[in-house]
Amino acid sequence: DIIFDSQGNGVKGTEEMTGLKLMKAMDVEAGRVMMEGAVDVTMRMLISGDDGAPNFAMRLFEVGPGGRTPYHSHAWEHEIYIVDGKGKLVFGEEEKPFEKGDFIFVPGGNMHSFINTGAGKLQFLCLVPVD
Ligand code: MN
Repeated sequence: DIIFDSQGNGVKGTEEMTGLKLMKAMDVEAGRVMMEGAVDVTMRMLISGDDGAPNFAMRLFEVGPGGRTPYHSHAWEHEIYIVDGKGKLVFGEEEKPFEKGDFIFVPGGNMHSFINTGAGKLQFLCLVPVD
């Protein structure tokens, strides 16, 4: 994969860069989410502060059939885009079904969990402030 440095020079590899980044999401290593309550969830950190992003991080989550993200809350918001699959969002007392092509704004300070209700893999982008 090609990563472009701040001078626009394409370079091979994944070394830390502070310039433009363009690569295949599937070439980013997936790490298992170990938070309590997570079931069959992996995350690929596509863009983070390590890439020189001062404000926004982009993560790609994959949840296996029957899996779920932890039911949790935090001060920051989530901006979600459902890349593939189907599921439901548990949001406080509410449950909202979603599917491929949907997007979701989860305002900060609310309990939330994403549950895969489909037969295949659930994939979604989740954008958050950088750490
Ligand atoms: Mn969250």
